[in-house]
Amino acid sequence: MFQKLTINDIDIKGKRVLIRVDYNTPLNPDGSVAEAKKIEESLPTINYCLSNGASVILMSHLGRPKGKVVENMRLTMVGKKLEEILGRKVIKLNDCIGPKVEEITTAMKPGDVVLLENLRFYPEEEEDNSEFAAKLARLADVFVNDGFSVSHRAHASVHKIAECFDKAVAGFLVKKEIEYLSEIFTNPLKPFVLVIGGSKVSTKIGVVEYLIKKADLLLIGGGMSYTFQKALGKTVGSSLLEESHVAIVKKLLEDNIDKIVLPLDYKITNKFSGIEYGDVKITEDENIPDGWMGLDIGPKTIEEFIKRLDGAASIVWNGPLGVIEIPEFAIGTTMIARAIANSTAATVAGGGETNEIIERLGIAHKFSHVSTAGGACLEMIEGKELPGLTALTDR
Ligand code: AMP
Repeated sequence: MFQKLTINDIDIKGKRVLIRVDYNTPLNPDGSVAEAKKIEESLPTINYCLSNGASVILMSHLGRPKGKVVENMRLTMVGKKLEEILGRKVIKLNDCIGPKVEEITTAMKPGDVVLLENLRFYPEEEEDNSEFAAKLARLADVFVNDGFSVSHRAHASVHKIAECFDKAVAGFLVKKEIEYLSEIFTNPLKPFVLVIGGSKVSTKIGVVEYLIKKADLLLIGGGMSYTFQKALGKTVGSSLLEESHVAIVKKLLEDNIDKIVLPLDYKITNKFSGIEYGDVKITEDENIPDGWMGLDIGPKTIEEFIKRLDGAASIVWNGPLGVIEIPEFAIGTTMIARAIANSTAATVAGGGETNEIIERLGIAHKFSHVSTAGGACLEMIEGKELPGLTALTDR
């Protein structure tokens, strides 16, 4: 059972409800919202408040403005998108605290929706500053955390703010995410196959070490796979490598050699600048020659991974298997994403880039659950406490 109070457990009629959402959405070059999943996922809580006689004040961060006002990181376009999806007026403010903001929020009537400006324009947000949290708290009667994907951050609007209210409660998205993720990771249906990619071993080693005990198979691709190859004595050319993690990965491989499946071949290039690349070829095997860099898994690997996914009863996927930002190197991830989506297993995916490709392919509805979170999801799986959840009132 969910251990925290939720918005269902408190009286919100006639109250101003301050909701921490995560509207840190990808934007198009013209500043418009490129992907609205996080906004859509916040609607159940907002609509519940509005239809139960409350007014709603939404707060979020966007990008990394590092404590200063950065014009192209304002939440204006997010507000426009929200207005469009919600189908009612959203009053977007140009600040998140202060007398002007207080004046407007004090005058709010049931049914009103206000969106505060980017919280990270103030350095105090990331510092978990009590005074800043108190200034935010002054705007409302009730606090709801519905930003699951920021709940691993001890930031003022996620963590410290909870102390300013009698009761701090979870929204429906937080509840849904926690319930779903706890269920699949506590008692995964077997065989349980884990697919892990992304750039670094260092950010995912904790979760790999934890889940390898539960998983029957672990398919590893992406930038992190080269550290595994190196640990097996293969050559990785100039591919991403974390030397500092070779020893720990070697031990993991020794203990779990029958469970870990690494790429059999790679798509490589001899020049890469982040957007531009040189000649492209497929390696014969897992070795990458000097001066070349692996940016995607190769066709043999795709075939092998698809074969290994077959028959799984549950699949969890986090992290791209290649540089998905470039179509030439997004093929491996696309093929595996489709295979997971078409599987009859219980399927869960999570993480920023992972979600991006799922949305791009239009296959989100084929997954049992697509988590809005990357970091929070990983930390929860590892069994770490999420400060934004710990801060909420126990049931
Ligand atoms: P993460 O945030 O750790 O999940 O990493 C996501 C990033 O990993 C994506 O932006 C990909 O471009 C990158 N990535 C995946 N595979 C590779 C690779 N082979 N080489 C370099 N970067 C990669």
